[in-house]
Amino acid sequence: MSSTIQKIAIIGGGVAGASTALILARYGYDVTLYEARDSLVSGPPFCHLHAGGNLYPDISDEQCLDLLKQSIDFAKLYPFIVDYRPTLIALPDTCERSVSDLLPRLKRLQSRYRELIEADPANALLGDPKHYFRLYDRKRLEALSALPTPDQPHTFDEWLIAPAKMLDLDKLQLPLILVQEYGLNLFLLASALELSLKQFPNLALHLKTRAKEVKQEDGSWSLTSDDGVAHYDYLINACGYQTGEIDDMIGIKDRRLVEFKAAYVTQCPELTAFPEIIFHGKRGTPQGMGQFTPYPQGHFQLHGMTKEITLFEEGLAQSSSTSAQPRLKPHLLHKLNRGWRWKTVEERSKRAISHLARFIPAFQSAKPAAKPLYGAQQIPGDNPDLRVAEVSFPTDNYARCEIVKVSSVLDMIKAILADLGVEQSDLLKPLKVDEKEVEAYAKEIAQQRGYPPQMASLLIPKQLQCKE
Ligand SMILES: Cc1cc2nc3c(=O)[nH]c(=O)nc-3n(C[C@H](O)[C@H](O)[C@H](O)COP(=O)(O)OP(=O)(O)OC[C@H]3O[C@@H](n4cnc5c(N)ncnc54)[C@H](O)[C@@H]3O)c2cc1C
Repeated sequence: MSSTIQKIAIIGGGVAGASTALILARYGYDVTLYEARDSLVSGPPFCHLHAGGNLYPDISDEQCLDLLKQSIDFAKLYPFIVDYRPTLIALPDTCERSVSDLLPRLKRLQSRYRELIEADPANALLGDPKHYFRLYDRKRLEALSALPTPDQPHTFDEWLIAPAKMLDLDKLQLPLILVQEYGLNLFLLASALELSLKQFPNLALHLKTRAKEVKQEDGSWSLTSDDGVAHYDYLINACGYQTGEIDDMIGIKDRRLVEFKAAYVTQCPELTAFPEIIFHGKRGTPQGMGQFTPYPQGHFQLHGMTKEITLFEEGLAQSSSTSAQPRLKPHLLHKLNRGWRWKTVEERSKRAISHLARFIPAFQSAKPAAKPLYGAQQIPGDNPDLRVAEVSFPTDNYARCEIVKVSSVLDMIKAILADLGVEQSDLLKPLKVDEKEVEAYAKEIAQQRGYPPQMASLLIPKQLQCKE
C-alpha cells in the first residue's frame, strides 16, 4: 500500500465501484463506499459475458480480443455468477453479412484463447479452445431435430436440439455458429458483493447515501453526503451514467455519451433447453439485432436493437460545453427515477416477443413477465460503438471509472492500483462465498426489485459446463 494514501472514498456501488471496493479492501485500504440506492449493482442490467464480442460484428478485432481476455479475468473473480450455457449466433437471410465474413475473427479469437491458456492454464474457463466455436449446417441440424429434447443439455449437440426443432431455418443463413460466450447473473453479483463487503472491518458501506458535494482542499478530498462531511486522500468516481455530475462538482470538463436502453422480461414455459441466441441485424433499423437470453423456468430476457424495443427516440445524450453530464430527455429520466407504466411495459415487451418470434415462431405465445431490466449506460468520449473502456485520472488522486461492459472492471482496477503505486499480486483470486446463502439473498433482491426470483438462479453452474 502507498504510505501517503490510506483513506479512499468510492462514489457509486455498481459493478465498477463495488468491485473496486472489494479489491482495495483486500489490499488493506480504509475504504468508504457511497451508494445512493438501497442495494449494490442496481444500475443498468447485464446478462452476457462478452468473451469475444461476437454480438458486435461492427467493432474492431482489437476490442473483441480485449473483451475475450477481460471476460476470462472477470469469470475468475466471480465464477459463481457465470451461467455456463453457450450462445448461438444466427445470421438472418436479410443480413448484409455472411457466415464466412465472421469466420476470420472467430479463428483469431480461438487462437488468442489458445495462447492465453498456454500462458496460464487457469485461463481455460471457456473450455477446450478447439470448441471455442462450432458450425452447424442444415444436415446436422436436421439430424438433431429428430432427437428428443433433453431436460438438461450436457453436450454442445444437445444444446442445438431445441433450436434445431424450433428455429425457422428457412429465414436464416446456414451454418449456425455455436460460441462459448456465457451468461452473467446480476442478482447473484449484487447479493455476493453486499454479503462480502459487509465482512471487511476496513470497509464502510453506506447504502441509501448520496454524495452531494465534492471538493479538493489542501491536498485532500472533502465529501458531503447524506451522512455529513468526511475527508479522504483519494476519490474514485464510479457513478455510472451520472459520472459527469461529480466531474461538474470538481470543475473537470470532459466529453461522454449516455445511452438509455431496456431489455424485456418474458415467460414461455413451452420453450426449454435453449442456449442464448443472437440474431444479427443492423442496429437502429427494424431488423436490429435480437438477443434471446434464457433463465430458469421458461423466463427469457429479450433485446431488440430497434427504437421501438431496446433503443429509444433521443435515447443517446452527450455532454455539452457547460456540463460534463449528458442530459437525458425528461421521459427517459422519468423511467429511471420513477419507473414504467405497465401499459408501456406490455407494448414494448410484446414488440420484443414478435421481434424474436420472426425466427422462433413458437415464441409468439410468450407473455410479459415483469418490468424491463433497464438503465442508462456511460460511454466515455464520443464514439457510441466503443465497447471497451476502463478508467481515467484527470487530476491528482482522482480515478474516474467509465466501463462500458462489466468485464472491463479488472483492467480498470489494475490501472487504479498502478495509480496508487501498489505492487499487484493475487488480483484475480476468486471471491469466496457461500453459494447457497448468496442465491437465497439474490432471490430476495430480485423480488424486492420486482423481478421473478427464478431469475436469480443459474441455468448451468460451472460443474455442468459442456466439455464435448
Ligand atoms: C439494457 C442494457 C443491457 C446491458 N447488457 C450488458 C451485458 O449483457 N453485458 C455487459 O457486460 N454489460 C451490459 N450492459 C452494460 C452494463 O450494464 C454497464 O456497463 C454496467 O452496469 C456499468 O456499471 P457501473 O458500475 O459503471 O455503473 P452503474 O451500475 O450505473 O453504477 C453506478 C452507481 O452509482 C450510484 N450513484 C450515482 N451517483 C451517485 C452519488 N452522487 N452518490 C452515491 N451513489 C451514486 C448509482 O446509484 C449507481 O448504483 C448493459 C447495459 C444496458 C443499459
